[in-house]
Amino acid sequence: MVRRVGLAGILFAGLAVIRTPALAQTDAVTLTPAVVEAGSPVLIQLNGVDAPATATIDGEWMGRRIEFFHGRGWLALAGVDVASTLGPSTLKITVKVNGVVKDLSRTVEIKEAHYRTESLTVAEGFVEPKADALPRIKAESELKARVFGASAHERLWEGDFRVPVLSTPTDSFGERRMFNGKLASIHQGMDFRARTGTPVRAGNSGAVVLARGLYYEGNCVVIDHGLGLFTLSMHLSRISVHEGQHLAKGQLLGLSGATGRVTGPHLHWAVRWEGAYLDPAKLLKLDLSGVR
Ligand SMILES: [Zn+2]
Repeated sequence: MVRRVGLAGILFAGLAVIRTPALAQTDAVTLTPAVVEAGSPVLIQLNGVDAPATATIDGEWMGRRIEFFHGRGWLALAGVDVASTLGPSTLKITVKVNGVVKDLSRTVEIKEAHYRTESLTVAEGFVEPKADALPRIKAESELKARVFGASAHERLWEGDFRVPVLSTPTDSFGERRMFNGKLASIHQGMDFRARTGTPVRAGNSGAVVLARGLYYEGNCVVIDHGLGLFTLSMHLSRISVHEGQHLAKGQLLGLSGATGRVTGPHLHWAVRWEGAYLDPAKLLKLDLSGVR
């Protein structure tokens, strides 16, 4: 079918073609995804900005420090916590080149992500840990704070993230779990229905910063991908790596299982950036193939 287009239409189309790149250049900061939801990982790119590799870039978003790296231009992988306040937020970015400071700060709207709600009625003892477990839980909580507070100051990951296990993922991230009518927790990871003994692999390259048995998490491996980003694999039946080891993307880190506080075998996989829990499904979907 041939569509008839009047002169005005041709002029309009011509204008649109000329105007698109000019508009893109005026936007110095690009966010991917463009629509930011609670739980979104966000790739921040500075484009059309005169910021050589020697520039100093400072970033902060909702109380979290953003560390930029220089690849093809300046980039950062940041994100919004699953339980973040919705509405407008201030993304602060300043570029300092030869003593001249340029402010690229902008407002970013945080949208609701519509995660699921699950209501459970359980015996009280299941929700509260037993008193004799409290010292262990406290010591482990301090250990985790130390581990998550000491991410490498360089990027250890490259390219896309890959699934840690070849089994059925669930859309369980962000699920609000109501126990006996009260909000008990927000599910901070993604569960994969994996039979005990299924190989679990590194979602990207990084350093093993925790590899041991914990009260809630069971046998747990935490990989530091640098610049505040970590992935966590929980409830493993076996750990095949040691703390301090460097892992390549796809390298075996252990076998899935049912250790820790679980009701059955599965892999709980979590993504954490600067204390924020991000949706692993959204990270897996994010196109990072150009980041090498
Ligand atoms: Zn889980």
